[in-house]
Amino acid sequence: MKNFLSILVLSVFFIGCTASKTAKNDLAISNPIETSLSLVNITTDKVPVVINPGRFTTQTEIYRLPRVVQGTYSVSNFGKYVENFRAFDYKGNEVETTKIDDNSWSISNASQVDKITYEVNDTFDTESSGGIGGDNPFSPAGTNIEPTNYVLNLHGFIGYFDTLKNSQYKLDVTAPTSFKRSSAIQELQSTVSADGSTTTTTYFAPRYFDITDNPMFYGDLDVEEFIVGDIKIVLSVYSPNKVHTAAALKESMFTMMQAQKKYLGAINTTPRYDIFLYLSDGKEGSPKGNGALEHHTSTVVVLPEISPIEGLAKSMVDVVAHEFFHIVSPLSVHSEDVHYFDYNQPTFSKHLWMYEGVTEYFAQHFQVFEGLITEDDFFATLMTKIQTSMGMDDTMSFTTMSENVLDQPYASNYYNVYQKGALIGMCIDILMREESNGQRSMLSLMKELSGKYGKNKPFNDDTIIDEITQMTYPSIGEFLNKHVVGTTPINYSEFFEKVGLEFTEANIKTNFIQNDGVLIFSPNTISGTIEFSEAVAQNSFWNDNGVLPGDAIKTVNGTTLSFVNAQQVFTDMYMWSPGTKIKVVLDRNGEEVIIDRELTQSYTLGKKLVPNSNATTGQVSLREAWLKG
Ligand SMILES: [Zn+2]
Repeated sequence: MKNFLSILVLSVFFIGCTASKTAKNDLAISNPIETSLSLVNITTDKVPVVINPGRFTTQTEIYRLPRVVQGTYSVSNFGKYVENFRAFDYKGNEVETTKIDDNSWSISNASQVDKITYEVNDTFDTESSGGIGGDNPFSPAGTNIEPTNYVLNLHGFIGYFDTLKNSQYKLDVTAPTSFKRSSAIQELQSTVSADGSTTTTTYFAPRYFDITDNPMFYGDLDVEEFIVGDIKIVLSVYSPNKVHTAAALKESMFTMMQAQKKYLGAINTTPRYDIFLYLSDGKEGSPKGNGALEHHTSTVVVLPEISPIEGLAKSMVDVVAHEFFHIVSPLSVHSEDVHYFDYNQPTFSKHLWMYEGVTEYFAQHFQVFEGLITEDDFFATLMTKIQTSMGMDDTMSFTTMSENVLDQPYASNYYNVYQKGALIGMCIDILMREESNGQRSMLSLMKELSGKYGKNKPFNDDTIIDEITQMTYPSIGEFLNKHVVGTTPINYSEFFEKVGLEFTEANIKTNFIQNDGVLIFSPNTISGTIEFSEAVAQNSFWNDNGVLPGDAIKTVNGTTLSFVNAQQVFTDMYMWSPGTKIKVVLDRNGEEVIIDRELTQSYTLGKKLVPNSNATTGQVSLREAWLKG
């Protein structure tokens, strides 16, 4: 149905296009904005862009690149990457333009303007350590321009006119014919140049939103396609040093997405879904913000290339599962702030607990529900989320944080949407199942909301909690008002008791940088080094290998550790998994200590969530409804 409709729209559009030439209706308001990018003969890491909006009847026009893009909850300022912004009249003479802020240009005598040209620098090149929260766009929302790879998050290249916010877009991308390309955007046609060396592909976007919602990869890609139910999955991998292939990840992606489809049931309608994976080798000019950004029919993922395949596959499951579940929210269920998003001065919805929290909850819960992981592993994930959330402000109203997410102190608590946000989803899930004798759940509620609202119909930000309460039970309203709108911390024991679980002290699995959520390093500002803290004694891997508190880390797998790259190095270490060979060089009072070996699972003493052996049959059956359906 969706395909059929778009073909109809398309043919009308073609007719409109041809007719416009003879009828001389070249007005900007009645034509698609014609845009083009050239990836041919790029010598300075800059992509030339041409924007042809058609004829304006206005005197002044404002053209902008996005300050903020959807799904990122931080300021990106894509206008900062634009150079040589110029406008020309129909005779080819330059028309005056004025830059009015980081992202906006004012064009005087707009009625004379034929086209605008500028060049775009990539964002990966400018990334300092730690993509999140820095001055740069979050890597999965960013852009890359290098001879063998182009990450075309199109909002980094193409902007919008204030007066033409609802215009259609036509986009020509010219690239060497040898390049592979991948995108879920609607493709109109491809034309090969006379000598065969370049190919121009024409794409179509019904509105600016579709420009921002359809990233592209061009270049030396490894692409695998497979079918999950009725969805075609296209997995495009760029591994700069050819460490990983799409084929090696295909199996785990297939198993995961099949389980997701089963979990979601009838909710999903996408015929094609693209996964773009950029593997960063950590060198200069490579992206530093690991993670992913969701779109309606695709996701861009950035992860370290150095990860062994097992660790990479596991990260991909966590990350892509999360992005794919965004199909439910905010892509289907969302408020007016999301629907009528202003890329320059956005307002933010109060309901990040739903968009990010519930999404992350689904991304973890489906794994145990569909048998991909054990109950023990799921409980461990919940414990990690509880511990990590305690490092942030547990009394901050989630709705207030959400609405003010660009400002402090809210911005630095944003990360809690993946921690406490997911736990909020869990509590509502348990309550829903308790109230309905296992008949309803967090997912069934989201499906009801998706039926009531959906992709084209936003909900009212201020009344949705009352509405959810009316659709469900007073206890759900009470929970949301007390712990999500209100500032009262959640007593998780209360919810675990309902399902016959309890906390205990035990040896638990941990990673190589933390004990149960607490970092085992501290910076020494006098020597300018980073040292293992006292806590290293409780991290079995390091302790068993003789590492002592106060040992300073000199290098990790050949990279010299500094305050500048610490975030990146520790992120890589966080993703280490047993079986990987590592080499860490330490400085112990001037003497070098080398740890050169294969990683083994590390343990620490911590709080563990376990079934209560005295649980009643009622508690056990609620637990089974929750974990097994
Ligand atoms: Zn998300």
